[in-house]
Amino acid sequence: RGGTAEREVPFAKPGSLTRVYAVASGKGGVGKSSVTVNLAAAMAADGLKVGVVDADIYGHSVPRMLGADGKPTQVENMIMPPSANGVKVISIGMFTPGNAPVVWRGPMLHRALQQFLADVFWGDLDVLLLDLPPGTGDIAISVAQLVPNAEILVVTTPQQAAAEVAERAGSIAVQTHQKIVGVVENMSGLPCPHCDEMVDVFGTGGGQRVAEGLTKTTGATVPVLGSIPIDVRLREGGDEGKPVVLTDPDSPAGSALRAIAGKL
Ligand code: ADP
Repeated sequence: RGGTAEREVPFAKPGSLTRVYAVASGKGGVGKSSVTVNLAAAMAADGLKVGVVDADIYGHSVPRMLGADGKPTQVENMIMPPSANGVKVISIGMFTPGNAPVVWRGPMLHRALQQFLADVFWGDLDVLLLDLPPGTGDIAISVAQLVPNAEILVVTTPQQAAAEVAERAGSIAVQTHQKIVGVVENMSGLPCPHCDEMVDVFGTGGGQRVAEGLTKTTGATVPVLGSIPIDVRLREGGDEGKPVVLTDPDSPAGSALRAIAGKL
């Protein structure tokens, strides 16, 4: 919308009834996008009006995981987001040709996020989830400026090294004065398909450690909202655009994710 004044972000207005969660992680590959998509689908299945902004500008993957292959359309000067599995979604990938990489600097990213929040017609949402890029970059700061009331949800694996970086990503909340809603531990062991044992592929304790660390740095209690085991069905669901919370809600990962969604 070149030349015109920026629209206000509706979710940041006082009295907005939309709960906004920014899903953050220290590093990539811990399942942040998988968690975002499944929480969104679970909440939509519970009858909530849910939107997802794929703010992982360089690593956008939300539309595929959600099965959203529609394109946004323009009505007057608003962008209408496609929806899939009951969730409205917008992603930078919808505006780049093919699988072209996004090569933008900070100010462009801020502008894209501003447009995703203000120029997309979201309607009255109950919940908006933002899938942030990993780490503590420009986008996390932009989110804090554009939607200061967004609460941060930290995703980590049980691994100590991953927990350390996740804690760092979460502690940005101190500088931005945002609330951390809680920690989700993902890839918390692999249930052995042949016996009742759990194989702790990535060790144990990462989620707890991040929650304790962030409780100390923020001075507010940060809970562990749940742990999600390694589950082939979750990965397959992501690849096929069919979130496991819908296709196999009672699987170990599906039920863990639904329980977490119920706490948000
Ligand atoms: P991130 O957003 O943190 O980069 P993704 O959500 O893209 O991570 O997940 C990375 C990969 O791991 C994906 O292929 C995803 O399907 C898989 N994955 C994530 N969580 C699990 C899990 N609990 N069980 C099995 N596979 C998982």
